[in-house]
Amino acid sequence: MHQPAPEPPADAVARLRATFRTGRTKPMSWRVAQLRGLRAMLTDHPADFVEALHADLGKSSYEAFRTEIDFTIREIDHTLDHLAAWLRPEPAPVPPHLAGATAWTQYDPLGVVLVIAPWNYPAQLLLTPMVGALAAGNAVVAKPSELAPATSAVLARLLPRHVDPDAIAVVEGGIPETTALLAERFDHIFYTGNGAVGRVVMTAAARHLTPVTLELGGKSPVFVDRDTDLEAVAARLASGKFLNAGQTCVAPDYVLTDPDTARALEPALIRAVEALYGTDPATSERYGRIVNERHFDRLTALLDSGRVVTGGDADRATKYLAPTVLADVDPGSPVMSEEIFGPILPVVTVSGLDEAIAFINDRDKPLALYAFTESDETRRRLASETSSGGLGFGLPVAHLTVSDLPFGGVGESGMGNYHGRYSIETFSHRKAVLEKPLG
Ligand code: NAD
Repeated sequence: MHQPAPEPPADAVARLRATFRTGRTKPMSWRVAQLRGLRAMLTDHPADFVEALHADLGKSSYEAFRTEIDFTIREIDHTLDHLAAWLRPEPAPVPPHLAGATAWTQYDPLGVVLVIAPWNYPAQLLLTPMVGALAAGNAVVAKPSELAPATSAVLARLLPRHVDPDAIAVVEGGIPETTALLAERFDHIFYTGNGAVGRVVMTAAARHLTPVTLELGGKSPVFVDRDTDLEAVAARLASGKFLNAGQTCVAPDYVLTDPDTARALEPALIRAVEALYGTDPATSERYGRIVNERHFDRLTALLDSGRVVTGGDADRATKYLAPTVLADVDPGSPVMSEEIFGPILPVVTVSGLDEAIAFINDRDKPLALYAFTESDETRRRLASETSSGGLGFGLPVAHLTVSDLPFGGVGESGMGNYHGRYSIETFSHRKAVLEKPLG
């Protein structure tokens, strides 16, 4: 079959800018139609996404619905429910020297925005920012990840059929294509991925004075207090960690706990993994695979960083790496020197809360911090004495499913945030308006 040549980035941006200039992306009716289009794409073609996500990541249909399709539909529905209220101009009180004047803020779309997505939730992490960008009245250049090629192809095929094709361009490809895109002038760039590329994106954006949102990663710690219900802790820890075979930006990266709790947690984690994936996770339909050989090799090289409590099995041919827990892990070991982004959970011992807080604060600000504790004082101290993108007590990962919470990092884990009304803030300009009658 004849494949049309891909549209050059400059042409795509010029085409979208021309559409934006007509003003047609601004009315509420257009925005609602785009969100309904995105919704219909997901509800009419779920099998295309399920198959592609399975091909790219061995993702089970259960996870495909839960973390990609239904997740995005919830975000769309939440936005449809509230968009009119979020966009309402907000009156501002005027000072006495302007008596008789009125002032308000108005949300203006930015123009043409670029959304660059990673491979780990390749549909959700492209579409959820797009929900906000389109709801805010922008035209969107969407760049799916080349490391999830099946999902990228589905998005490239279906998006222009369900969203105004004059206001969207899907650019597939890897570093050369992204580099070419980044040479163009956008009105906002929204990048999700690692900090090294985040720096490339921000440098390119600086040339055009384009604002950026950087959704990055990092090592998200979990503090486990003594005297907590370790069966419950292990169950929640394992389900957050081993979701998508650990390839989740907000997955618990490592555990910090005292030596007694660390020992007691070991059998509980073994039972938790078995409850989730059975005695042989390689045969579990629910358990995913590592995205490619490069990441597989990177991860298996980390298995020597501690004593294997459970897991450790790996098969390069199928990119299977068992859900693995490592004990007696030295803070200076390789597994503690980079974001793991795979199904390996190291347990590092500290003397208690003070040392845990110092350990966290000695390192880059994480995307998420989690703690299991029964103590209000411990929760209060963690909340006030540490800095992280998000904070979860008693349940990892789930904060990002609350559409009314801003999702984003701080410091090394990123800048800016989105979801729900925070996406509208990100993809709009809040214009100050003053009106004073002449009379
Ligand atoms: P990736 O390799 O798919 O890269 C993301 C995008 O950057 C892709 O579209 C890719 O084409 C582009 N890219 C890669 N190299 C580039 C270069 N040199 N120049 C220009 N563009 C380039 O994804 P990844 O970075 O491997 O994703 C994993 C990372 O993303 C982890 O650190 C993870 O924590 C983070 N992450 C963060 C979030 C979040 O919401 N904060 C979500 C998921 C993943």
